[in-house]
Amino acid sequence: MNGNSGLHINVRGIVQGVGFRPFVYKLAQGLDLKGWVRNTSAGVDIELDGSQEALTRFMQSLRGEAPPLAKITEIKTTKRSPNGYGNFEIKQSLAVADAFQPVSADVAICPDCLRELFDPADRHYRYPFVNCTNCGPRFTIIKDLPYDRPLTTMAEFAMCTACAHEYQDPTDRRYHAQPVSCPECGPQIWLEIGGETIRDQEEALKRVRAWIAAGEIAAVKGLGGFHLACDATNADAVRRLRERKARPDKPLAVMLADTAAVRRHCLANEFELATLHDTRRPILIVQRNPESNIATEVGPGQQTLGVMLPYTPLHTMLMERAEGISDAWVMTSGNRSDEPILIDNEEARQQLAGIATAFLMHDRPIQARCDDSVMRVKPKTQALIPIRRGRGFAPAPIDLSWDSHPMLAAGAELKNTFCLAKGKFAFPSQHIGDLGNYETLQAYEAAIAHFERLLRIKPRALAYDLHPDYLSSRYALKRAQQDVIPAIGVQHHHAHIAACMAEHGLPSNSSVIGLAFDGTGFGTDGTIWGGEVLVASYVGFERAFHLTTIALPGGDLAVRQPWRQALAWLGKLGMEEERDLPALKGISETEIAAVKRQLQSGVNTPLTSSMGRLFDAVAALIGLRREVNYEGQAAIELENLVDLYESNAYHFEITESEFNARSVIAAVVADLRAGTPAGKIAARFHNGLTALVLELCTTLRKRTGLKEVTLSGGVWQNMTLLSSVMVGLQAAGFQVLTHHQVPANDGGISLGQAAVAQHTLIK
Ligand code: ZN
Ligand code: ZN
Ligand code: FE
Repeated sequence: MNGNSGLHINVRGIVQGVGFRPFVYKLAQGLDLKGWVRNTSAGVDIELDGSQEALTRFMQSLRGEAPPLAKITEIKTTKRSPNGYGNFEIKQSLAVADAFQPVSADVAICPDCLRELFDPADRHYRYPFVNCTNCGPRFTIIKDLPYDRPLTTMAEFAMCTACAHEYQDPTDRRYHAQPVSCPECGPQIWLEIGGETIRDQEEALKRVRAWIAAGEIAAVKGLGGFHLACDATNADAVRRLRERKARPDKPLAVMLADTAAVRRHCLANEFELATLHDTRRPILIVQRNPESNIATEVGPGQQTLGVMLPYTPLHTMLMERAEGISDAWVMTSGNRSDEPILIDNEEARQQLAGIATAFLMHDRPIQARCDDSVMRVKPKTQALIPIRRGRGFAPAPIDLSWDSHPMLAAGAELKNTFCLAKGKFAFPSQHIGDLGNYETLQAYEAAIAHFERLLRIKPRALAYDLHPDYLSSRYALKRAQQDVIPAIGVQHHHAHIAACMAEHGLPSNSSVIGLAFDGTGFGTDGTIWGGEVLVASYVGFERAFHLTTIALPGGDLAVRQPWRQALAWLGKLGMEEERDLPALKGISETEIAAVKRQLQSGVNTPLTSSMGRLFDAVAALIGLRREVNYEGQAAIELENLVDLYESNAYHFEITESEFNARSVIAAVVADLRAGTPAGKIAARFHNGLTALVLELCTTLRKRTGLKEVTLSGGVWQNMTLLSSVMVGLQAAGFQVLTHHQVPANDGGISLGQAAVAQHTLIK
């Protein structure tokens, strides 16, 4: 072959299920290159014969023009003598033992498929499962790699001639789109209602839409699980859903029909609008438009709404505009309170029977359960803050700045995720949930098995939280014994800080000032930590400052009933007899006496330095919340109250290694007595914390020379506090790192555990 060269290329990253091979095919054809391309379980392999010039152009385009959903992390090339290929072809996929490569997350319906969905001339017209190489289900239907139809839950649907033709044509948008299907050959929907099964698609859609419009509740099978749906503008319907689901106040997600509906119900800026439309379609927490007629019951005590746009063709059709059909539907996880989102038709029928009165079903099995992701946009920036990482994001990897052993980090107890790591990647799982019940534990173990199989990671070390009662810790310790591999306990707040360091790619030898503020974490001294200022590296930490501990009378009960924490503070100040304070009004003498006994005896009264509990106490003191029914409720409502024009601040007393809130509580009570509005009290508390953080960081910078501050822990989901602390620290010359890839809450813990465990192993 005169003047020809040969080249072998191995591409790694998210390169399967994203139209990568057709892209390579067209590129090679256009440059008159011969050879082949194929998927392997380690990535994509390409073999080329051609002129040197064409090969060079190929490499440039490979990097620069890859399809939008592809994420190339590595390209390896090997020069070869030409093989004398006569054409360019796409070869059958190849499984490579032990190799692993990232799996694409699910992708929202693309503009082309959307157009076909509503084009009467197209054969995909009104087909609720239309998809192509640029969109559709991925992670939730993949059983194993390489990503080919027989290894997905689409295996049971044989393609019709028309679909097979598109699937096999390298120039078609559906070339090797594994979930490709049409009304002839693919999954179908049906409605189960009042003992009847309606198989006719249009009739089923019509009936379920009318059902919702009439104020009823429907279960809708979606992409990563079931939703419970009702009209968000119907207060009775929302109340009924809350009662049946035993979910009194926690905000419910709302699906809005389209951009016009977003504008009508929300005050979203351009970046927020773009985020709502992006291919990951998260639930975004945005300001509520005061003009919106969405029932306040959707988010009691909130000025925000958690909204998303339809992300599958089915959702798009469900929410199609029509007279009498609401443009805002509650779409909350289809589960009973605190249990995992349901994915199986029969389980949904049984478990949601007391909640939903109609079931919109389909017959495409869900392999991986995956809740909707919840995000918000950091004020005045274009940065996403993950609150819950699920559909659209998982199982995308996070790049590590080190080479990791094959590792499993078990995560925490609440808002659990686990994390697998290997080589340069960490793979935090989708949101699993609170591990407090048997069903969630089952889902946790199933998800771990699925991740390990998909990613070809067999852990050779385990990381877990020091809390002996976390089910994740027990799982890790049991597994360490079974597999005979090391298990490394990682302190909760150290894990929080390490997670933030890791997602920012800080190198192995880094040290930071870490502000780990959250509700609860097991300390190394037997107390419950949560207001922690650490000087931390990946290997270890020094607890430089912490909130002075206070008794938590009744333990978990005090978490649900913040007035108990308020009473503990009043006791410290000798004010426990001031029963007219809002925190104690209406609480019976018996209950107060019981708490006082606990405070005296210390029975079932752990000590805590928790920042979350301090927010609770202040919220209770001003009468905002004596009891809560979801984690962080008091703090969220306190933030909502903040009067942004107030500049005064409460003062914390700082000693050698502690900061004491006694003076803050005393000032709150004095302000209450003086009739200061609650909004000002809430603001002075927030301002006081900002001043405290600034002072502590300045002290530590003098002591250690460190300028990098990482903020982690659930308290940093408070945007008011986060914004003012960032402004203050940056003005003082600090570099501030916050979470953008994993949540600041305990959903981020597993990544931090993996980071700490790796560095402990190689220490
Ligand atoms: Zn598409
Ligand atoms: Zn078909
Ligand atoms: Fe935490």
